[in-house]
Amino acid sequence: MAVCDVCGNDYDKAMEISVSGEGKGTFDSFECAIHALAPACGHCGCRIVGHGVEGGEMIFCCAHCARGAGEDGLSDRV
Ligand SMILES: [Zn+2]
Ligand SMILES: [Zn+2]
Repeated sequence: MAVCDVCGNDYDKAMEISVSGEGKGTFDSFECAIHALAPACGHCGCRIVGHGVEGGEMIFCCAHCARGAGEDGLSDRV
């Protein structure tokens, strides 16, 4: 049995996800894993579950948000 790091649910099919530099976490669902691990867009704040767009120190969910935050010259890597 494993307990989810996010919601505390005790779930026998919980998954472990390791993150480079941050050790690993135990989650009962992708929703919880995303909540704990996915970076937030520097512009709109939504969770980035795809590739994202990196601009300087920030990461954005899409090139539109990167431009909205003042990062020029970025395009979606799809
Ligand atoms: Zn959970
Ligand atoms: Zn965004």
